[in-house]
Amino acid sequence: MSFSSTAKEELIRLPFGRNCCLLAELSALTATSASLGFQGWQRFLITFEVENHALARRIFRILKNGMGLSPTLQFVQHARFGGRRTCVLTVPDTDAPALLTLLGMAEERDGAFSLKRTTPSVKLNRQCCRRAYLRGAWLGAGAMANPDRGYHMEWVCGDENQAALIRKCLKSGGLSPASYERRGSTVLYLNHAQDVADALALMGASAAVMSMENIRATRQMRGKATRAANCDEHNSERMLTAAQAQKEAILRLSIEPGLHSLPPALDELARLRLEHDELSLAELGEMMNPPVGKSGVNHRMRRLMELAARYAPGEEQHADTD
Ligand SMILES: [Zn+2]
Repeated sequence: MSFSSTAKEELIRLPFGRNCCLLAELSALTATSASLGFQGWQRFLITFEVENHALARRIFRILKNGMGLSPTLQFVQHARFGGRRTCVLTVPDTDAPALLTLLGMAEERDGAFSLKRTTPSVKLNRQCCRRAYLRGAWLGAGAMANPDRGYHMEWVCGDENQAALIRKCLKSGGLSPASYERRGSTVLYLNHAQDVADALALMGASAAVMSMENIRATRQMRGKATRAANCDEHNSERMLTAAQAQKEAILRLSIEPGLHSLPPALDELARLRLEHDELSLAELGEMMNPPVGKSGVNHRMRRLMELAARYAPGEEQHADTD
């Protein structure tokens, strides 16, 4: 399975979480994978069409258990595309008004139901909801390259409105995506290793962050071999062990609460340590802007390690920044 599919499988298995987040995720999935049909006066039909069966089941459960609706699920065999089966979820006209109202697409006034817009409109004021929205949008219309080959993660946006929402979610996670146009759609993307890892962490794919880090380490190791050969063996080994422990601690911080939420001085040192585990703290200090002396870097690294200890595995932390 590709790295992208494995990361998606992980996200699809995540628990539902709060109702606000569920609605945010559903909005993103609706914007990327659903279409609105008209069956007559005030009779609407909402249809989700997805290729990934596990994703279809997740949408089905969100609609049924999360929103109390009665969707139907069927498989459509395509004669073209090598006989691929797509899952088609239909929200019947009896339930469609409720769903459209939840998604901010319609309103009911004096018993009359009226459609306001054809794409979902959500507020996303809370960080938990922005993360859920990002996840839904990526599951519905996102992809990433195998980190073995390069770092690239993208979201294909249905319209400018959705592009603005996804940009907002990434921004609040400290990420600034670049964009380009592809067949009439705006594609937002990230192409730095740490940005891709941060985005995976934001969406909740912590196992994918870890395996991406392993691939990154292997790639860096190759470049490091020459350098290590010139070093005093004992010293460099001791240095690498300490650096490895620091890196693992920082990696935990990058998942929760996210490096962007650290004070800038700590954020900078954390990113340098992730990129260069072959360097000593003094050398990292020299790379900082402005450069920091040995005792200064030591002090900052101690603070990073203390922070990471607070986010030790097994402890649920809330990263709400309402
Ligand atoms: Zn939420």
